[in-house]
Amino acid sequence: MAERITHWIGGKPWSGTSQRQAPVFDPASGAVSGQVDLASADVVDEAVAAASAAFPQWRDASLTRRSQVLFAFRELLNARKEELAAIITAEHGKVLSDALGEVTRGLEVVEFACGIPHLLKGGFSENASTGVDVYSIRQPLGVVGIISPFNFPAMVPMWFFPVAIACGNAVVLKPSEKDPSAAVWLADLWAEAGLPDGVFTVVHGDKEAVDALLEHPEVRSISFVGSTPIARYVYETGTAHGKRVQALGGAKNHMVVLPDADLDLAADAAVNAGFGSAGERCMAISAIVAVDPVGDELVAKIRERMAGLRVGDGRRGADMGPLITREHRDKVASYLDAGTDAGARLVVDGREHEVDGGADGFWLGPSLFDHATPDMSIYRDEIFGPVLTVLRAGSYAEALGMVNANSYGNGTAIFTNDGGAARRYQNEVEVGMVGINVPIPVPMAYYSFGGWKNSLFGDSHAHGTEGVHFFTRGKVITSRWLDPSHGGINLGFPTQT
Ligand code: NAD
Repeated sequence: MAERITHWIGGKPWSGTSQRQAPVFDPASGAVSGQVDLASADVVDEAVAAASAAFPQWRDASLTRRSQVLFAFRELLNARKEELAAIITAEHGKVLSDALGEVTRGLEVVEFACGIPHLLKGGFSENASTGVDVYSIRQPLGVVGIISPFNFPAMVPMWFFPVAIACGNAVVLKPSEKDPSAAVWLADLWAEAGLPDGVFTVVHGDKEAVDALLEHPEVRSISFVGSTPIARYVYETGTAHGKRVQALGGAKNHMVVLPDADLDLAADAAVNAGFGSAGERCMAISAIVAVDPVGDELVAKIRERMAGLRVGDGRRGADMGPLITREHRDKVASYLDAGTDAGARLVVDGREHEVDGGADGFWLGPSLFDHATPDMSIYRDEIFGPVLTVLRAGSYAEALGMVNANSYGNGTAIFTNDGGAARRYQNEVEVGMVGINVPIPVPMAYYSFGGWKNSLFGDSHAHGTEGVHFFTRGKVITSRWLDPSHGGINLGFPTQT
């Protein structure tokens, strides 16, 4: 029988009865593995109330205590990360080594957040005016909401919640309903690490739960990651309800290959970054811009490498797993026809790739298009699957123009041996995260993650110092301890003396 997956409210699994549920699948077999409860607005109210009740005590917990809980969480997660990776693979489908990589990148944010006593240090000016001291502090917001996508069920929530909790907030996480179990497992781990009940809450659900969070007056901020149309909606709705919002959207990440690049390294990178996690990564490379004359040779090298990719059940040593749902697999596959109809050359058709997995799994092998042009849907749309599209450019300037004209601006990479060209690219490209001979330039936790243009709505990127800033509000205190010389009447505006 399919397992029931329910909310985590007040430090324990929810005991109510859900009016609505959704199936959760094992994408490698196509079988239903669970039924997840979908929260109504009432359940969201219950979750926010539990978080609000827990907030004052956690806000006032000392920095030492907060960092001790974070350290304990870090140790537990590090010791048990294989368990979490197995849960991710079972519901998402990505191969086990990739799931473990996701957990490891999330752990880096936990480790960053362990430094919270240092990160929250304010400023102090003695004698800003005679006998007057001025100092700044940063305080937590209260209850903060996180809404995450299916493609990183552990890492994306971990971009936010370690920092939010370290800063003294109470978190309500609404994970993707497609792979909800990782969030509940993490909630249980927080309890074991000694986090007080109610500081970390999980509500499962769909649009109804998201809307309830966006409209709830006690939810102070929203950190969203998902597709661009929903990110825009969440940003507009959340800010209209007076919340601070960071909403990270979709992507179309370009890899520009200049004529002087090492084409073997570039082809390895294109295959790794294009087909890892079946292309279901917001930092996946999906468009390759080959600058003349390297196109033919590069395409041949990529094609050669693709033939050796093992597609199959992520628990059986494959390189690439299935897609998240049957509908998504069919949508991605439909682009293979759309691209061909539009005149691009389908060099490798993933529908023909051999698969080591269940007959009803959501399979699609790696595909490669060549000679695509910017007007085609295979280039304009975020396909979010194992489809690499090669475009040709006559010069560096033409390649740069293509990247900058694209509506997304999450990540990009340039492959070259020319330091001057790379430096020019990092300066001129309108993209938030840039790799130089690095295909997936996901920043370390102590820098901040986020794109430009349609890849991020709001001002703050995730984690790093921007994350600390997002989850706190600044306060400046001007203080004078009175002595008799401070007497007297003066109605003028205060200035320094
Ligand atoms: P999605 O937009 O469908 O869902 C994201 C979240 O929004 C989920 O929790 C979902 O339940 C909720 N949601 C879905 N439809 C909604 C609606 N109509 N109203 C309110 N909430 C709704 O995204 P997804 O398919 O889960 O994830 C893939 C997308 O996420 C891709 O576009 C990918 O590029 C993007 N992504 C971006 C980043 C980044 O850093 N920019 C990182 C990871 C994923």
